[in-house]
Amino acid sequence: MAQNNVQETGLRGLPALDALARTPDGIALVAGHGRSRALKTLRAAIDEARDQVLAGGKSAPDAAQLLARAHEMIAKANAPSLRPVFNLTGTVLHTNLGRAPLPEEAIEAMARVARGASNLEYDLTHGKRGDRDDHLDHLLAEIAGAEAATVVNNNAAAVLLVLNALCARGEVIVSRGELIEIGGAFRIPDIMKRAGCKLVEVGTTNRTHARDFREAITPRTAAIMKVHASNYAISGFTAAVKEEELAAIAHAAGLPFIVDLGAGALVDLRQYGLPYEPTIGDTLGQGADVITFSGDKLLGGPQAGLIAGKRELIAKIKRNPMKRALRVDKMTIAAIEAVLWLYREPEKLADRLPSIGLLTRKQQDIRTQALAICPAVAAYCAGFASVSVRDCSSQIGSGSLPVESLPSAALAIEPSDRKRKGNGAQTIAKRFRNLPVPVIGRIEDNVFMLDLRCLRDQEAFVAQLPLLKTSAETVA
Ligand SMILES: *Cc1c(COP(=O)(O)O)cnc(C)c1O
Repeated sequence: MAQNNVQETGLRGLPALDALARTPDGIALVAGHGRSRALKTLRAAIDEARDQVLAGGKSAPDAAQLLARAHEMIAKANAPSLRPVFNLTGTVLHTNLGRAPLPEEAIEAMARVARGASNLEYDLTHGKRGDRDDHLDHLLAEIAGAEAATVVNNNAAAVLLVLNALCARGEVIVSRGELIEIGGAFRIPDIMKRAGCKLVEVGTTNRTHARDFREAITPRTAAIMKVHASNYAISGFTAAVKEEELAAIAHAAGLPFIVDLGAGALVDLRQYGLPYEPTIGDTLGQGADVITFSGDKLLGGPQAGLIAGKRELIAKIKRNPMKRALRVDKMTIAAIEAVLWLYREPEKLADRLPSIGLLTRKQQDIRTQALAICPAVAAYCAGFASVSVRDCSSQIGSGSLPVESLPSAALAIEPSDRKRKGNGAQTIAKRFRNLPVPVIGRIEDNVFMLDLRCLRDQEAFVAQLPLLKTSAETVA
């Protein structure tokens, strides 16, 4: 009983909602966020305080404390869920971390059309309704070296649309070695089904021959399809049919040859010292009739699915009602256009397109950066980890060239608490994730590795290091 009385006395000290709202700070809260949200938050702050008093051990907060708490609640609720991180995983085009960083030109182009009206579907020459596809289709065809091209929401959508438009109710022949799954449940057999096509698998996992395709052709066959093995490699005793030969088999039977190229390079990456990845131009030259590829992988643009190929097939694809459902928005169009412009001057690409710039960074340059910031990182990790510079390998990512790696350099952050080995690197990883701009690395043999290939804003990275001390508290 006595205890209850104490608590009720405590509650009596709790300011009322009206009184709080009438204080200068309460008036400012209403002015800043509107009456309904301000009052709702103040009520929540009072309720929280009441619960704490009733639970015992706490005295009622005063008006200033309650208002501070309300501000805190609003700030927390206003923190965006989607926010920037440092991608120091060593995987440059990391699907979980948003893939390609955009060039400034593309970001500005997006902002320009986002801000107001644009000629998205308006023909400025004739003053009448236009087609949003006109902004990109010709430019993309020109740069890809294709008769025609078009764009949809992502490459998964491109594959779905192409199959539905060209092959619905028909059979599509694919090698068993290419029935891929890309992260996020994109599986060729499932897409095929949803597109209304019947998948005809030929060959075996490791070996498929030309005769496998020839023998599988029936009057119901609608296309031969090749899927670029983008996130794995089959090695050892293998055989695959070359694109030229697949195209010849398809064309002899009057069928289209469709290629899902995945990463899809628009230019030969060897000119930047990178490994060869089949280009759109090469694949068209090998006889592909329709190619699909991503906008945010090697192309270095925003999320999009690009389709390039024969004029009449692209026209048929564009007439399909699904095209409308899978269309891209004006911001994407603006960004792709800006990125494609950069491709008109391929020699400048490594300087202008961040994805190519990061992929072509020299190990020596990354190592120099690592040595420069190592002392600062070591100073702020003192007490829980030791830091050194180590050579490592970055990956291109996003299913491009899965077995190729790029020589790079990393900060190797090793837990100093030997007794706690086993979970030490995990705890360090969490400290870095808890920073205001979370830093994402990878763990190798209980060492937290930060591959600096993709560290562009070094100043911002170093500036938040002092918070590593306090980010420890949120770790435990
Ligand atoms: C990445 C990839 C896809 C999916 O592309 P999204 O743009 O992520 O939808 C499909 N096929 C292949 C071969 C890929 O590499």
